[in-house]
Amino acid sequence: MSDDSQEHYTKMPLISQIESDQQHVIRQICRLTRLPTRWNGNIVFTNELNPDGSPRYFGGKNWDCKITLHTSILDTIRRYSTGIHEGFHSVSVGLDERAYSQYKGIEEAVVEQCTRLFRTEILEGLHLTEPLEKRFSYNHYIENMESLRVRTGKESKDFYLSLLRIPLAQRERVVVKWIEKTYPDTQALFLDSQVEEALRHLKGVF
Ligand SMILES: [Zn+2]
Repeated sequence: MSDDSQEHYTKMPLISQIESDQQHVIRQICRLTRLPTRWNGNIVFTNELNPDGSPRYFGGKNWDCKITLHTSILDTIRRYSTGIHEGFHSVSVGLDERAYSQYKGIEEAVVEQCTRLFRTEILEGLHLTEPLEKRFSYNHYIENMESLRVRTGKESKDFYLSLLRIPLAQRERVVVKWIEKTYPDTQALFLDSQVEEALRHLKGVF
């Protein structure tokens, strides 16, 4: 939780304000990705804490398509990026419990990078006066995904948006294909232990 900004606004926003901000976020995400959302329009709030008193999580996208936000972030700038992260999960193609358990690292790397790359654009119409917080969530997965992206030669926004539109269970295969294209000899890929290692980290297999 090293990225937990403790700078709170003085005033707690109204629930209706949080809901209308989230609707704005989802509209922008759908426009940007040209994907439909599975969000059912409901936000639920949690105050679950770890034994040390820190929030158990800041946000979540439930399998029943609600979005969960932790009450500790509602009066912080963080709630916007958390809402965007969960919003990207809500449009992510092929995201179900089975695919997620197998490819969690790939899903989180794609969704969190989309959050970082597009959040300024997504939040434009909301006229926020505070700077957005630095993001650290899933840095480990992102580093591994970035090492693969560089090998594909693709530009960041194109790479992550394209992956978001590909069913989660197929993303690994597609990335490998993109990398193979950049190799003069496709056999060389299988000798590239760095690619294999990054994929292992993303799938949590060591
Ligand atoms: Zn996530």
